[in-house]
Amino acid sequence: MINIAIDGPAGAGKSTIAKKVAAEKSYIYVDTGAMYRAMALFLLRNGIDPDDAAAISAVCHEPDITIEYREGVQVVLLNGENVNDSLRTPQVSDMASRSSVNPDVRDKLLELQRELARKQNVVMDGRDIGTVVLPNAQVKIFLTASVEVRAKRRYLELVQKGMEAELSDITEQIKERDYRDMNRPVAPLKQADDAILVDTSDMTIEQVVEKILLIIDDRI
Ligand code: C5P
Repeated sequence: MINIAIDGPAGAGKSTIAKKVAAEKSYIYVDTGAMYRAMALFLLRNGIDPDDAAAISAVCHEPDITIEYREGVQVVLLNGENVNDSLRTPQVSDMASRSSVNPDVRDKLLELQRELARKQNVVMDGRDIGTVVLPNAQVKIFLTASVEVRAKRRYLELVQKGMEAELSDITEQIKERDYRDMNRPVAPLKQADDAILVDTSDMTIEQVVEKILLIIDDRI
């Protein structure tokens, strides 16, 4: 199976780019952040305190989190319910960032991610795909951009969806999430030794997609 790993910080453009690359190559796009978000939604609905690691460890095995593809679109199912539309709120983002440091949460989702990549050609995006989830991926990309550019992208995304947002708040949230992602003991965000760095700060989506397609064609 062909496995393409795309890692990087929040707002680097991973999901937009990974989706387009997957469509071009007719591979399946797997958004691992959405799985962490579904877990976060479950924890929020159960009133779990994000700082209570023991409580998170105790309940994180309970939910059934699966991914299905319906007409080519990834649908995240939390105990059978399609939760796609509930995963992008700031509350879920914050809970996902906090609960994903928990090793029990990571173990639970890791298996599901590996299983998806065993069965089909995938473009998988996340934080630890090239380093931990798919260390043997044929192509590894580390996608990044400056904090300012990433905050602006997230801000516009929320505004376009009609949500209220403050650029300064989002900048702070992104910095906090970067810090947590990069400094957690288990599977921190870092560029794999064999990953290719792509800085998207001054690139259009099309330019980034083209660059990654060239890298893939060169390797596969
Ligand atoms: O990529 P996205 O912002 O949707 O991810 C939500 C959260 O899930 C991130 O803040 C990150 O902490 C966590 N995550 C992770 N490992 C992954 C994907 C996401 O820890 N492979």
